[in-house]
Amino acid sequence: MNQIWIVIAVLVALLIIMRIRSRRKSKPRRPPATGPRIHGIQVNAFVLPRMGDGCLYDNGVQYGKGFRRKEGPVLPHDAECRCQAVPFSFTSTEVFNGALRNVGNIQSTIPDFPGAAAAMLIDRLKAVEAHPLPEDESAYLAAIGPSAFADPYRHTLEAFLSERYAYLRLRNRAGGPARISDNLTPTDMESAETT
Ligand SMILES: [Zn+2]
Repeated sequence: MNQIWIVIAVLVALLIIMRIRSRRKSKPRRPPATGPRIHGIQVNAFVLPRMGDGCLYDNGVQYGKGFRRKEGPVLPHDAECRCQAVPFSFTSTEVFNGALRNVGNIQSTIPDFPGAAAAMLIDRLKAVEAHPLPEDESAYLAAIGPSAFADPYRHTLEAFLSERYAYLRLRNRAGGPARISDNLTPTDMESAETT
C-alpha cells in the first residue's frame, strides 16, 4: 500500500515540474527595448545657382526638442529659396548607426545629381566663397574643382558654376552678400512647422 502512495507522489511531483517548465517556455519574450526616440527637424537646401548664403549655411541644421538648437530658421530664406524642413524621428540605436547624417535628400537643379554629391558641392561652395571671389570664372571653377565629381555630372556642373559665378559677381557689385549672422539669428517662427 505504501508503495502506491510513493508512486502517486512521484507522479504528482513530475506533473508539477512539467507544468512549470511548459509555463516558462510559453512566456512571451519581451520585445527588444527600443529606447527613447529622438525627434527633430532638419533643413535641407535645394542647390541652385542663385542660392543665397542663408540656404548654403543652414543646410543640414538640425533642431527641435532634443537638440541644442530649439528653433529653426524662418523659411524661405529669400525669393530663390527652396529649402525644406524635414521632420525625423529615430531610436537611439538608429542615431548610433548614423541615421542623423542621412535625413532626407538634398535636391538640386542638376539632373539626377545624387544627394551625397550635392552635399559635397555645398561644402565646396562654402569653402571657396568664404574667401574673396576669384577675379575670373575659370579661377572660380578651378577652386571648386568639378573634376572631383563623377563624370556624368561634370558638364552640367560646369554650367551650374558659371551661372553661379555670374550671380556672385552681380551680388558683390550690389553691395555684397547678406551678413550670415542675420540669417542665423533665431526669430519667432510659427510652431506650425514642428508638425
Ligand atoms: Zn533656403
